Amino acid sequence: MNLNNYVSIMDIEFINTTKNNFLDQEIYPRLNQQEKCFIVTANPEILMKAREDAVYKQTIQSADFVIPDGIGVIMASKYMNTPLQERIPGTEVMMDLLAYANEHRLSCYFLGAKDFVNEKVVLEVEKQFPNIEIAGNQHGYTDVDDPTFVEKVVKSNPDLIFVALGLPRQEQWVEKHIDQFNKGIFMGVGGSFDVLAGEVKRAPKAWIKLNLEWLYRLVKQPLRLKRVFKIFEFMARVILKRI
Ligand code: UDP
Repeated sequence: MNLNNYVSIMDIEFINTTKNNFLDQEIYPRLNQQEKCFIVTANPEILMKAREDAVYKQTIQSADFVIPDGIGVIMASKYMNTPLQERIPGTEVMMDLLAYANEHRLSCYFLGAKDFVNEKVVLEVEKQFPNIEIAGNQHGYTDVDDPTFVEKVVKSNPDLIFVALGLPRQEQWVEKHIDQFNKGIFMGVGGSFDVLAGEVKRAPKAWIKLNLEWLYRLVKQPLRLKRVFKIFEFMARVILKRI
């Protein structure tokens, strides 16, 4: 059993813990102390992109925590004899953080996804988590680096900022702007807004248990095929030790 706190895969240090311990020991205390924090949920695609793009790699390395999202990362860690304790899906972390924010009446900003998806996310949050204060929201098909816009987000002073711009933009956005904020847990959440808005269904539990969530997403969104090739390339590199 590998009990190290971190596991390195392709020069990216993953936190080696369970989802609950990650939240209880690392994130909730930071939220309570209003400490800034950048969470990256990394899957094989992010690792492959970081492998190919040194600047993006530095962006990922600048995060406070990289959590293993995607069964490919877990399999790779096992194959390298440094097994990670469990998969920590970004969607679940976001939902747990929303529940915590609701309980503690915290404020959240929602940046990214398509216009109607972003609006639906806000409606869904208002319905499911009525005690959350919506600091603001903005869809992701506009100039989100515009200084006036960023200043507006900073002024809204959110406790949590969820960024759904897809990779690499979501991580780049956080890295570029986090210094302007006084507090905030920043997290790139990929397609999680689409899930929360009900536009994309998560795989049924049985598929998730069998580690086949990626296959379910492929069946539902065949355009993801190119991404699945990246997962295979990643696994091939791990197995052939060419990482
Ligand atoms: N997205 C966005 N602006 C862009 C590109 C993507 O807001 O310029 C959003 C997209 O609508 C989706 C999210 O980013 O809600 C994640 O996209 P993708 O499916 O590529 O990410 P993944 O789930 O693979 O991380």
